[in-house]
Amino acid sequence: MRQIEHFIAGKRVAGTSDRHGDVFDPNTGAVQARVPLASSAELDRAVEDATAAQREWAAVNPQRRARVMFEFKHLLETNMDELAELLSSEHGKVLSDSRGDILRGLEVIEFSCGIPHLLKGDYTQGAGPGIDVYSMRQPLGVVAGITPFNFPAMIPMWMFGPAIAAGNAFILKPSERDPSVPVRLAELMIQAGLPPGVLNVVHGDKDVVNAIIDHPAISAISFVGSSDIAQQVYARGAAQGKRVQCMGGAKNHGIVLADADMDKAVTDIIGAAYGSAGERCMALPVVVPVGDDTATALREKLLAAIADLRIGVSTDPDADYGPVVTAAHKASIERYIGLAVEEGAELVVDGRGFALPGHEDGFFLGPTLFDHVTADMKTWHEEIFGPVLQIMRADSLEEALALPSRHQYGNGVSIFTRNGSAAREFAQRVEVGMVGINVPIPVPVAYHSFGGWKRSGFADLNQYGMDGVRFYTRTKVVTQRWPEAGADAGGSFNIPTMQ
Ligand code: NAD
Repeated sequence: MRQIEHFIAGKRVAGTSDRHGDVFDPNTGAVQARVPLASSAELDRAVEDATAAQREWAAVNPQRRARVMFEFKHLLETNMDELAELLSSEHGKVLSDSRGDILRGLEVIEFSCGIPHLLKGDYTQGAGPGIDVYSMRQPLGVVAGITPFNFPAMIPMWMFGPAIAAGNAFILKPSERDPSVPVRLAELMIQAGLPPGVLNVVHGDKDVVNAIIDHPAISAISFVGSSDIAQQVYARGAAQGKRVQCMGGAKNHGIVLADADMDKAVTDIIGAAYGSAGERCMALPVVVPVGDDTATALREKLLAAIADLRIGVSTDPDADYGPVVTAAHKASIERYIGLAVEEGAELVVDGRGFALPGHEDGFFLGPTLFDHVTADMKTWHEEIFGPVLQIMRADSLEEALALPSRHQYGNGVSIFTRNGSAAREFAQRVEVGMVGINVPIPVPVAYHSFGGWKRSGFADLNQYGMDGVRFYTRTKVVTQRWPEAGADAGGSFNIPTMQ
């Protein structure tokens, strides 16, 4: 059985605790590897190495740090196929989607290549008599990231890209369900010229997460995962005075107005609802047609598109989506489908019971479509995180706008229309953090920032972009005066003012 290792002080290190987790091959359902779950002593060792490495790394000038990022970007490109295969083999997403996962992370690395410019402070000459004021951004020290299973390349890079470029050392605790790609990324960072100890990967579950939050030498924690855990991590970290950002779950809505380009909207909705088997926090699991005619036309076209969907193993180049990540997750999605039926939603297409010939034990699910889902149903309220699309009918834009606005999650939302003023008003008023206008998956580009509202994000600063740089640095402001020798000292018991 393949044994996955931690990555500490620049090399792979076997786990020494007696706790392990199983890593599955979602295509076959078999256990393909074992991942060690670290003890707090193993975490201590990684943090000790990171603390020593960080002092030297922070003293390297920013342009040299940027060169490591440039080289890492190059290595991601030259190792793309191998990384995508490894990612698909543990996650189950199709290879083209794994490349997308890596590329969206690579874009944050490209952004991090600009770190010399991004760290520049402000300067005011002559703020008072002989007084100049300047500000600088300094790294925090050792920081940590805890990441979910669904983007094992992109989300670690959202975090360690800006953190390391800014001069921090990083402890990454990736998902124990698909932990191999994060280790490979750390190895490539070393190959790119990063000093050992600056990026460490420590595997584990809840216990090591709590040990990370409580570790006195770790000064900031970035978390992405489900909302209940995000909220717990946020509360536990903040209670210790740490800087914390915790992104949570989602239930994104796509509003379809009568004047939308219906064929294009349907293509977009199908890709966003069923791509990656719905295991994306920016998936589109709810679609809201406005008006009965829109609903009829949309449902008809969705049905035709669903009939054409192809489910296959993650290496099948013709597959639209592959298996879900584990048998437990598959069972949870099936339970949610059962719940929606019990609550009275109309089950139009049932994806349960789907079996891929030759891969009957794989974690596959067919596409599911519900119609007449209503806001009093639990099935609307909760995140399912699978290939399940729900139609909720609305009579007006006002009614449609209220659905994502009053939902507990506020990650993403999209509107499909040709009406600019309706779209503009929608974007202005909807209570959601990331909005798409005729864009089904509005993940902001790397030089903006990613973050949802309400229970989708417990954070003051979002992921990557300038927020990422701000999160991993603290500002210092220096007020300086260089009086001539013998000049009047000018001391006062009053607070100095500029009057
Ligand atoms: P998860 O919450 O189960 O796990 C996330 C991380 O937390 C993992 O590293 C895991 O080991 C750790 N963890 C698990 N249980 C814990 C506990 N009790 N205490 C502390 N840490 C714990 O999430 P997942 O299933 O890996 O990922 C899917 C979820 O992540 C979905 O809810 C999805 O919407 C969300 N997600 C959000 C974003 C975003 O940016 N908002 C992006 C991707 C995924």
